[in-house]
Amino acid sequence: MTRDYSQLMSEMAADYQRHAPVSAELHQRALSTLVDGGSHSIRLMEPFAPRIRKAYGAWLEDEDGNQILDFWQGHYANILGHNPAVVTEALAEALSENYGLQGGFTDRQQIEAAEILCHQTRQDLVRFTTSGTLATMYAIILARAFTGRELILKVGGGWHGAHLWGLKGLGWNDGFGEVESDGLPNSVPDQVIVTGYNNSGLLEEKFRRYGDKLACFIVEPVIGAGGMMPATKEFLQAARKLCDSYGTLLIFDEVISGFRFRAGDAGLLFGVKPDLVTLGKAIGGGMPVSAVAGRSDVLKLTSRELGFRVKFSGGTYSAHAGSMLAANIYMRHLVKNEAEVYSKLAESGAETRRQVQSAFASEGIKVRFAGDRNNDLRLSSLHMLVFPFKEGLELNTPEEIFNPSICDQALSEKVIQLAMLLENVHVVHGLGSSTTAHSNEDLQILGEAFGRAARRIKPYL
Ligand code: PMP
Repeated sequence: MTRDYSQLMSEMAADYQRHAPVSAELHQRALSTLVDGGSHSIRLMEPFAPRIRKAYGAWLEDEDGNQILDFWQGHYANILGHNPAVVTEALAEALSENYGLQGGFTDRQQIEAAEILCHQTRQDLVRFTTSGTLATMYAIILARAFTGRELILKVGGGWHGAHLWGLKGLGWNDGFGEVESDGLPNSVPDQVIVTGYNNSGLLEEKFRRYGDKLACFIVEPVIGAGGMMPATKEFLQAARKLCDSYGTLLIFDEVISGFRFRAGDAGLLFGVKPDLVTLGKAIGGGMPVSAVAGRSDVLKLTSRELGFRVKFSGGTYSAHAGSMLAANIYMRHLVKNEAEVYSKLAESGAETRRQVQSAFASEGIKVRFAGDRNNDLRLSSLHMLVFPFKEGLELNTPEEIFNPSICDQALSEKVIQLAMLLENVHVVHGLGSSTTAHSNEDLQILGEAFGRAARRIKPYL
């Protein structure tokens, strides 16, 4: 089922042009040197993105002077909100003392960050790099080298970054089986096998068919771009068992979920320990840091002792000085204040959901949060809003969330985003993430903004 939002979208685009004329003008200028006006497609909303000049806590300021309440929060990295003092003060002090920009050496900060990370994720060894994409790519290469096998198993809708093995099974096209980019080697489609999130029966089938050729199963304990929803315990525990019996490595991609639900990996909350875990986003305290942590017999494939068999090396900016300082300070802060930070995040998440539900309920519009019937991980601060056409659905898999005959895709992606921006609230995939920086007053502002947006949209439903 598709609804026609073209008239609403063009009315809102005209309003937005008046609301943010400086951003509109900057967008036109950007188009002459930047592809689509920027360098990350998700930031380049239509008709144009707000150009941000400041970000603090829950709030942004754009070039027009609009104060915008933000739920994107740095691709979900900023669990304490934007530019938290705990990091900015340490960086400012370090920079004033000739430490923080690119050095190309190794230092104490890196050791301290590694110690916290390994301890909190229950892993033996870690190696740092600079993006989630690189971390999952290296984890997959390690798994292929360790097992001597070719195939990678992943779930449909699971985003692990834009490397060769990550670009299959992302967008819905009557299912999740396709390769999504031109220019890849011909072998990629055959090397990546796609299964279903929270579908243990299908997982078993895939292992029966491909198990002895599978190097790894890479999966998020809480899927991000694929719906911001937790796995079921049963699914992750089945994955652990199947990997063990077929000699396949289990990789948890915790680039979003790591340090988001506790000061460490989310796998612990499901009672499952992976062989390798990839981390990014929150561990860097706002700086570009990512990591692969895991079993020493696997990580050691990249060591001098084993002749650098896996070339997980290089990276001019890997374990960059300022980034390691930020990572060390941020993770330390999260560990020390774990009880307070994570209960605040959970409360902020719960209040966010209450506000949104009540705003749409007053307008009689059916809205759900993806994964909201899964009781295996409650109190999430990650939110994807979905607008199902029918009541009573489970909405526990990307197959339901992204199927346009089950949920209204245009509404949750484009329409809501523009309607909310006109209310000075920035949301992505319907909403985004709550942080410890969102006060109850901020969340009330969110509820009121959704109420006005819902009233505007209702005549088009
Ligand atoms: N894994 C997951 C689960 C992610 O959400 C992302 C990014 N959204 C990545 C990997 C890739 O990270 P990056 O964008 O830092 O390359």
